[in-house]
Amino acid sequence: MCGIFGIIGKKNCVQDLLKGISKLEYRGYDSAGLSIPSTKEMITIKNKGKVSGLQEKVESFNLFKDDAYSTGIIHTRWATHGVPSEANSHPHNGNQNIISVVHNGIIENYRSLKSSLISEGYSFNSETDSEVLAVLIEKFYEKGQLLKAVNKALKEVDGAYAIAVVSNEDINQLVVARKKSPLVIGKGKDRIFIASDPLPIIEYTKDIFYMKDGYVASIIGDQVKVYDENENPIEIKYEHCSMSPQSIAKDGYDHFMLKEIYEQPEAIESAIAGRVFKDQTEITLEDDILNKDLVNRINRIVIIGCGTAWHAGLIGRNIFERFTKLPVQVDYASDFRYRDPIIDENTLVIAISQSGETADTLGALALANENKTPTLAIVNAVGSTMTREANEVIYTRAGPEIGVASTKAFSAQVLVLYLVAMHIGTIRGILDVDERKRRIKNILKLPSSIRETFKKCSNIKKIASIFKDATNTLFLGRGTGYPVALEGALKLKEISYIHAEGYHAAELKHGPLALVDENMPVVVLALKGRRYSKIINNIEEVKARGGKIIAIVSEGDKEMKNITSDIIEVSEDVGILNSILVAIPMQLLSYYVAVVRGCDVDQPRNLAKSVTVE
Ligand code: GLU
Repeated sequence: MCGIFGIIGKKNCVQDLLKGISKLEYRGYDSAGLSIPSTKEMITIKNKGKVSGLQEKVESFNLFKDDAYSTGIIHTRWATHGVPSEANSHPHNGNQNIISVVHNGIIENYRSLKSSLISEGYSFNSETDSEVLAVLIEKFYEKGQLLKAVNKALKEVDGAYAIAVVSNEDINQLVVARKKSPLVIGKGKDRIFIASDPLPIIEYTKDIFYMKDGYVASIIGDQVKVYDENENPIEIKYEHCSMSPQSIAKDGYDHFMLKEIYEQPEAIESAIAGRVFKDQTEITLEDDILNKDLVNRINRIVIIGCGTAWHAGLIGRNIFERFTKLPVQVDYASDFRYRDPIIDENTLVIAISQSGETADTLGALALANENKTPTLAIVNAVGSTMTREANEVIYTRAGPEIGVASTKAFSAQVLVLYLVAMHIGTIRGILDVDERKRRIKNILKLPSSIRETFKKCSNIKKIASIFKDATNTLFLGRGTGYPVALEGALKLKEISYIHAEGYHAAELKHGPLALVDENMPVVVLALKGRRYSKIINNIEEVKARGGKIIAIVSEGDKEMKNITSDIIEVSEDVGILNSILVAIPMQLLSYYVAVVRGCDVDQPRNLAKSVTVE
């Protein structure tokens, strides 16, 4: 998830570009860069790190005065492909430096495009997927025909993009396009602006045009022309943007956490991109990760993590056991690193962390490395320390997570564990073709199942009021519902400060039942499945003690409606990936409970987003 900003006009735009892009840093900030097309050359300046670093670098170029520098594009990056570095930062240019492109999204078929371009004699300077766009557009480019070249190039790419393109042979033109990544156009008095969202634009104009999927726009001087995916012209209707800057950054949501909960379909789509294809029966992991020799050699898997990542690991255990038939152990990284864990070169250690900087997980990874144990990191932040410490890395690609309570990163971790388990289970011959086809279908269906689940969550706000004055709650589940119950309890504790315990429902009678009385709300994960009748028994046990049941159930479950009126339905139909779907109502429940209790949702007391100390 990167930020894009562009200006086209008659006066110098360089300082305004820098000022504007700094407002989009909430979308990513691992590197930044700009391109200014001029008749002499394409001026492209890039820098690893924040926009302030780019600002300093640009200052030495003497670009702030000349009105010839009136068109430009700028980018702040949140890497998905290739570490944060100057070479990987945007803009990317074609081989002749005629075309310069900034991109937000993922080009899923970039590998095949890149190799055919290389065989045609083109060269590449970065590890990104985005660079193929620059090379392709330049390949098709003829002077005066920038729009045509962009259209031709986009026909060849699959995936998600918001792009802005400039050429130093058409310096008064800016071409932009959008598919699945946001892009808006703002019409100023004497300048036109394009950006990922209206934030950098609203100080110049409130007239904003929201590009739709498939739209391509060509801006020449102050003339904007927009076309749909079939290249038919579209009438431009500017809308008045009255949102506050704070609200724009949160996409209109009250908190980043809520925004991030609702970003889960896109987070999963990114995690799947280029790895799962509907006409294939195998998972494609990049860069020969977990090659056949390694996968056939390992005889055990150890998953390590902390907090939410540890819960994702527990769900992963069930998935791995089913798909790989290998023994799996899940450990708190903090405990693992100070024991004498039994690991060797035939164990695969999988470390999970959103930030890639979690001190305990890094410590555990170091111990695995000392033991020459193969390690795989599942990480969200590209280029973080963990990605350098582990032998191999798979990115979750959930986009920056700003709310302290993890939501979309958790779902993406579970999904990536699922992909890894399928990959191992395929190589080891555990999953036959039919099963793989079925599971690939489920993976591809997951984003729409999440969207369906959101639609069913409208009563959660009301249910949250039950918790307003609660001091203790229980979360119960069985199977993969158990780690999800742990995660639900953790979410509630983190942001609403209510004491919440997650328990395996079968353990109820072994102790926690003693806590249940009429003041105790009990959240039960009760999806239909092989443990359903047992869960019903547990619910009855709680009810008999006066406990207040809130049940998360399968869509259309009539039986449960007779037991409790406080039910939240989930559109569950994706097999073991249902664990992601049931986590969603629990995230929303915690969120609304925290709101009703007046808590600081995005920055809960005593907590930090990245836990870099032991
Ligand atoms: N895939 C591009 C990169 O890694 C853009 C990243 C994004 O938009 O999230 O550079």
